[in-house]
Amino acid sequence: MTAEKRLQEIRKEIEVCHACPLAKGRDRSVPGEGPARVDILFIGEAPGFHENRQGKPFVGQAGQFLDELLKAAGVDRSQVFITNVVKCRPPNNRDPLPEELQACQVYLDEQIALLQPKVIVTLGRISMGKFINMGRISSIHGKTHNVNGQKVVTMYHPAAALHQPALRQTLIEDFARLKKFISTDAQAETPAPTPKPVLKTDQEPGPKPSSVPEPQAKPQETPSAEPVKAEPAQPETPKPPEQLSLF
Ligand code: SF4
Repeated sequence: MTAEKRLQEIRKEIEVCHACPLAKGRDRSVPGEGPARVDILFIGEAPGFHENRQGKPFVGQAGQFLDELLKAAGVDRSQVFITNVVKCRPPNNRDPLPEELQACQVYLDEQIALLQPKVIVTLGRISMGKFINMGRISSIHGKTHNVNGQKVVTMYHPAAALHQPALRQTLIEDFARLKKFISTDAQAETPAPTPKPVLKTDQEPGPKPSSVPEPQAKPQETPSAEPVKAEPAQPETPKPPEQLSLF
């Protein structure tokens, strides 16, 4: 079976999936969209209000900003794959629960295996947490990491700039490096990986995790072989439907 055909099958499986309670509250699941082979795979957190209605990823305000970022970076949205760590909208856009992430990860894992992207770009701290068990997004945004041989770049979620305009320029600057990230010459800025849950990084342990978006100050990129602590997902106060929950 070709990768394209299997991706289509996964889409159909997600559309009827009831493996976690999020199925009860959805209008439509959002499997993701893009070609079967891509250089860049973007992974966000979860569908929001508009995504839940349309069944497509990143179609709300954050999606419009993502489109702007891609255009400014000279990357065609039709040539990348965009999905989320969970495929159904959590109530009031709250963070996905660990059991929901666990139930849904089989789909994302197979999508990654089929797509074989040169670079995975995580958007926000929830998707970052799937790959990077250390640091804070304010410290490691815009950096590349070698995660078991897969190049992963951590970025803020575009919705972060909607709530904290100061992050807009940070995202623009990080996205401006997208083509560099997919270059075969570009090396990960972090050391070689260890087995999952992985990661050696270039950062010292971050302060206590917070669900609040953080300042956009550019981090130091001095390498270090010290592994650092995980930054677990933190539940947040429910937000109005039009808000996106991820930073
Ligand atoms: S979030 Fe994932 S596991 Fe849960 S119902 Fe939707 S597709 Fe299934």
